[in-house]
Amino acid sequence: MSGQTRHPFTIAIVGGGITGLTLAIALQRRNIDCTVYEQATSFKEIGAGLGFHAGAVRALRLCAPDILAAFEKVCTVNKWDSKRHVWFDVFDGTADVPARELEPAFTILQPQTGGGSCHRARFLDELVKLLPQDRDIARFDKRLDSIEESSDGKLRLLFCDGTVATADAVIGCDGIKSRTREIMLGPDKVAQAKCDYSGKYAYRCLIPMAEAIEALGEEKAANTSLWMGPNCHALTFPVSHGATLNLVAFVSDDRQWPDQARLTLPATRQEILRDFREFGPNVSKLIGMISDKPDRWGLFDLAENPLPRYYRHKICLAGDAAHASTPHHGAGAGVSIEDVAVLSSLLADPSLRGPEDLEAVFATYDESRRSRTQWLVQSSRRAADLYEWRDVTVGKDYGGILDEITRRQATIWNLDLEAELETAQTILRNRFAA
Ligand SMILES: Cc1cc2nc3c(=O)[nH]c(=O)nc-3n(C[C@H](O)[C@H](O)[C@H](O)COP(=O)(O)OP(=O)(O)OC[C@H]3O[C@@H](n4cnc5c(N)ncnc54)[C@H](O)[C@@H]3O)c2cc1C
Repeated sequence: MSGQTRHPFTIAIVGGGITGLTLAIALQRRNIDCTVYEQATSFKEIGAGLGFHAGAVRALRLCAPDILAAFEKVCTVNKWDSKRHVWFDVFDGTADVPARELEPAFTILQPQTGGGSCHRARFLDELVKLLPQDRDIARFDKRLDSIEESSDGKLRLLFCDGTVATADAVIGCDGIKSRTREIMLGPDKVAQAKCDYSGKYAYRCLIPMAEAIEALGEEKAANTSLWMGPNCHALTFPVSHGATLNLVAFVSDDRQWPDQARLTLPATRQEILRDFREFGPNVSKLIGMISDKPDRWGLFDLAENPLPRYYRHKICLAGDAAHASTPHHGAGAGVSIEDVAVLSSLLADPSLRGPEDLEAVFATYDESRRSRTQWLVQSSRRAADLYEWRDVTVGKDYGGILDEITRRQATIWNLDLEAELETAQTILRNRFAA
């Protein structure tokens, strides 16, 4: 990373989720001045699990070694040594066989170890500790409303509370409902800037591990398991160093999402049991352990409206703002971290002279990242349909499901991010040389 000289430009980051925070830390470590503008009153994440595959963990290290160290503090891996290469043991969730006797329909193996899961809020807490204490780089209660360009070329960010900030460039990390995306695309394309309901929703719950082991036995509760079934599937994996089981239960839904303004709606345990009525006793037992007031999360994505570009002039998008995806490859945050690795390394490139070069950085980032991340959005929808036996050709053919999922996961897992960074740097320098 570069020495002590600060780079001659400033970056405004809109949104302090996982993408915005890792970007802020990665830029700080590279002596790039940035400020995070977050609409909430503090940095917040939900109490649910998050998995990073080995490639995503390598991306954390490339962003900054202390970001990797922060993840390692909260990371949980499969409890059994024999399961270290198991991404998921996949079971027929409809089987009427006690969990302890149930054999996997198949196992999805991951070539590299090094990935793991964490409790989201705990990870965010660790990231917040990495922000510099001596500089005020986070501003809260700052909901972005619009962006204007002033006569000196700087961007003016106008917030809903009437305040204004300036920066040489804006990177929108403001998630699924990104306002930066709308501004970047322009007023005539606001409809295109919206995520659509993917026709799936999810229930996300944490269950004390002792109770989960009682229901499933240690092998299935303390290691990653996936439960297939018609039009629904569920994932279970350990978080919080094995103290808790994370359950995510997905449901296919042909109706419209009832309230476009809200991504989450209150639900009841009875509704989950009704959705999973074709499942056997193992999944039903777990659902019975869920707190009485679970939330239902509508899964929205950009599959129907992939963005033509991830930047315009000196406004750029990263993370879910650029490529909101359903979570069926377990990789939305992982590819967002890859975005951060590429963006931060390009912004720190010594060939940059000043703010006039930032658009070239964003064009290079767009070239490096758009096709991979937009493929993920499409592929993720397909993965859920495979787990839910919804594909008319593959159906319940376990060999067919395993082959296709393994091939798709390999595309996610096997990225050589170091090589991608080198290629992107070469493209950037060639742009300046042209
Ligand atoms: C059920 C589920 C399970 C998942 N599991 C995994 C997994 O296991 N592994 C994985 O890699 N990914 C997973 N994902 C995907 C992952 O959660 C997201 O890709 C990731 O959280 C995106 O982070 P982000 O920072 O880009 O966006 P967000 O987390 O949405 O953060 C956006 C931030 O911007 C702020 N903001 C929004 N609008 C404004 C505004 N106008 N002005 C200022 N601030 C604003 C918000 O308050 C928020 O803090 C899952 C997703 C779901 C739904």
